[in-house]
This record gives sequence, C-alpha cells and structure tokens, in this order.
Amino acid sequence: MTTPLSTRDWHERAGALRYATGHFIDGGHEEARPGQCFVVTNPATGEPLCEVAAGTALDIDRAVASGRRAFKSGVWRRMAPRDRMAVLTRFAGLLSANAERLALLDTLTMGKPISDMLNIDIPSAVQTFTYFAELIDKIDGAVTSTAADAFHYILREPLGVVGCIVPWNYPLLMASWKVAPALAAGNSVVLKPAEQSPLSALVMAELFIEAGGPPGVFNVVNGLGEAVGSALALHMDVNKIAFTGSTEVGKLMLTYAGQSNMKRVSLECGGKSPQIFLSDLGDLDRAVTYAINGIYGNMGEVCNAGSRLLIDRAIADDFIARFVERGRDAYRAGDPLDPATNLGPLVTRSHCARVVSYIETAQREGAKLEFGGSRPALPGSYVNPTLFSGVNSGMTIAREEIFGPVAAAIVVDGLEHALAVANDSIYGLAASVWTRDLNTAHKAVRELEAGVIWVNCFDHGDMTQPFGGYKQSGQGRDKCLESLLGYMQTKSAWIHLG
Ligand code: NAD
Repeated sequence: MTTPLSTRDWHERAGALRYATGHFIDGGHEEARPGQCFVVTNPATGEPLCEVAAGTALDIDRAVASGRRAFKSGVWRRMAPRDRMAVLTRFAGLLSANAERLALLDTLTMGKPISDMLNIDIPSAVQTFTYFAELIDKIDGAVTSTAADAFHYILREPLGVVGCIVPWNYPLLMASWKVAPALAAGNSVVLKPAEQSPLSALVMAELFIEAGGPPGVFNVVNGLGEAVGSALALHMDVNKIAFTGSTEVGKLMLTYAGQSNMKRVSLECGGKSPQIFLSDLGDLDRAVTYAINGIYGNMGEVCNAGSRLLIDRAIADDFIARFVERGRDAYRAGDPLDPATNLGPLVTRSHCARVVSYIETAQREGAKLEFGGSRPALPGSYVNPTLFSGVNSGMTIAREEIFGPVAAAIVVDGLEHALAVANDSIYGLAASVWTRDLNTAHKAVRELEAGVIWVNCFDHGDMTQPFGGYKQSGQGRDKCLESLLGYMQTKSAWIHLG
C-alpha cells in the first residue's frame, strides 16, 4: 500500500509540474505565440500561475479542418467498433494512470481541493470514458415492417465535427461528459476549455494519441469565450455544439447556430435546485447532512447545487438549528493542496466578489444571516459557507444562481406549497424531496419541473442516469445512452425490391 501524499508532497509535485499551455491540433501540441496569451491565476494564492495561448478564429479554423480531414478519411468513424472501444478503454486507463498530474492541473487553476479531484472528478471521468467505450458496439439501427416490394433499414451515423465548450467547475469531468460520447459515436472533436481552467484538456488530448487515437480526431483550442468559443459555435463546418456553462452564454449558442449553419446545439446550463424537506421525512440528521453537502460541496460551484432549502414549517426550527450546529464547521477553507481541505477558494477574484455581493443583497433584502457571510483571512478568493434563513421566493438569493457556498432556507407549508415554490424558477436542473410517504414521493416526482429528481437523497446516481435540465437549465442530456445518441444522426435507407 502506498502512503498518501502530504501537503508538502503535493506542493513539491506542483512545483515540479511541467505542462503544455497552447493548443493541441492535428495530433500535436502547439505552443502559445508570444504576445498572444492570457494569464491564468491560482485562486488559492491570487498569484499568476502561467500564460496560456489566447487562440483566434484562425486556430479554430485549423482545428476544425483537422477534425474534418480525420472524419472524412474514416480513420476513426470506420474503425471496427471493438478497436474503437479498445482505444477509449486504454484512454480511460491512461486518465487513471495520470491522476496525480490531472488532479494538480485542475486544483492549481480552479482551486478545487485535491482530495475532491482524486476521489470524485478523476474516477468519474474514467468511468465516463469506460461507459461510453462499452456502448460502442451496442449501437443498433433497425429494420422496419414494410410491404413486400421494399426493404427499409435505419442507420445511426456520427455527425461529423463536434465542438465542445465547457466550464471551469469540473474541468476534466465536464469535458469528459461531452468528449466521451462524441468520440464513442465516431465524431471528431474540437474542445474549448474554460479560460480559467485550460490545462487538463491538453493532457487529455495528448493521452488520446498515446492510447492509439488517430491525429485530428481530438483537438483542443484554448482562448477566451468571446473569441474562440464564438468562432467555434459560429463555424460553418461544425455539426454540433455541446455546451455546458451559464444560461446566458447558452442562449448565445442558439443564436450562433441560427446565424451560421443550423448546427445542432445541446445545452447544460445553470440551476437553482430546491431540496424539499417534508415534516414526515424520518431521519432529520441524515437529511441535514445531505443539505449541507448539497450546497457546500465543490464550494457551491455546482450546477445542481441544492441552493434552496424548502423546509416544512413543522420541522423548520429544528432543521435550521441542526444545520447551523453542524453546517457552520463542516467545510473549512484551506489550502487546496492539503488533502484534509474540503473548501477551496472560488475560481476567481471577480467570481468571489460576485458571491459576496449576493450575500450583501440578501442582507439588504431582509434575509437572516445564520452563519458565514464573511471571507476567511487567507490570500485567495475564499468565501465561508453561509446560511440565510427567513428567505422568501421573491428574494434575489432565491431566484438567481449564486454558484457559491450560500444556502437559502425557505419555510413552506406542506407539499403543495413546496411544489409551487420549487417550480417558481426559470431553472429546472435538479430537485429533491424528502418524505417517508410513497404517494407524496411519486406526486412530487411528477410535479417537480426538473430533469433530475432525487427522493430521500441528493446527488446520487451513476452513468445510466440522464443528467440535464428542464426550462432554462438547458435541453440536452449528459451521461446515459440518450447522450450518445445525441452525437449521432439517423439515416433511412428505403430499398425498392421491384
Ligand atoms: P460560462 O457560460 O461563462 O462559460 C462556459 C464556457 O463558455 C467557457 O468555456 C467560456 O469560455 C465559454 N464562453 C463564454 N462566453 C462565450 C461566448 N460569447 N461565445 C462562446 N463561448 C463562450 O460559464 P462558467 O462560468 O464557465 O460556468 C459556470 C456555469 O456553468 C454555471 O451557470 C453552471 O450552472 C453551469 N454548469 C452547468 C452544468 C450542467 O450540467 N447543467 C454543469 C456545470 C456547470
């Protein structure tokens, strides 16, 4: 058994880490051009970490052309399914073998605790590639019933070149949720990582080649969203944009598709997920534990964070008292390279300022600060876990996505009221209901306007679970078989047997 690394070990490894900072096009790294870079800051220290290539539309053109060449050649889409499976399976193994390097890159750029990277993000990314690799030779077409003079069959084919635009909150994992099904379906990919977390994607592309993936099939272009993200989404030779990010930018993707070639668009966007705690829920301590982890995990920078706690009046005082007692110390700000840290900094100074401004707005609008609301005395962009009670659904913190460790407790009177409050949102990504009554649970599942519903748990699931939103949380599904089919198109072949 190997001894776990200490904080000092992680710092030494971070200091010795060498990594690419450019693009990955046509099977090889390209260095950043002098003067055409942007600075990536380590949010735990506030110090610059590195300079990364600020790509342009020309870089996107080259990456898309490379992807198109690879697609047309058939080197990947026409590879025997089990050979493609073998490449993606080897790739999953290489992700696992490079866990330390990948974990460090995401932790240094976006501040996620190294333990979360090792225990959550990397195993989940590995599982994502394994799952989609396993599906490759299970993709079926169909033969339909016809009259005697015809034979009709339906084929599923890859789309072509897929542009993946991803956020910074789970850099490796969100990229995996797009890239794995896109590649499994036989497409070429151009991945545009978030500018806050641009490094692990380059390692992914490099490992794909090491796994035996053909050059040109998996490209990465770094740069600012407004420059390279829009160039990718507006490109006339991109067949689909798979986007995860804010609702605001998600709407732009639809516009870009309309302004260019009507490419397909799948959107995984923001959320304001409610957790409903009814008076018959049973184990209050267990429910409180899930409520705490559901909002403070990953610093609250989670699309499906349980940011609205809808608590039945009969149990509200007790629930909030227990949440305060245990929640105020459950997540402690610290060095993300310390394996014991479970609360890192927020991704950037500006995002931190945004979260703080929501806290100020909540106080101004009359919510009661139960704990937190402050920043710890650390150099990085940290915000302490925060709970507001006395929130009503008209308040800003009940309506807008904060994307930070800020929980809003809203007292409700019974199921109908809870459902009305839960659905009073432009978002509909996820929701949970806590009850021991089977009828209540099923009714809530039917009535809640969200793509993912949990009953008596939160954030559970596996790769078979479609993940995606209703309403302005988006219109695609990640993970699951449905996601893979979203990277394919249907061809009908009608043969006249005259
Ligand atoms: P963002 O929308 O600012 O950026 C997402 C990506 O879009 C980045 O790569 C960015 O460079 C790019 N981009 C920005 N402006 C662009 C433009 N004009 N044209 C093209 N591309 C552009 O989001 P973010 O701050 O990186 O991530 C946080 C958001 O992501 C939150 O709203 C969160 O809820 C959402 N998210 C959703 C899911 C989900 O599965 N539903 C998962 C994770 C994060």
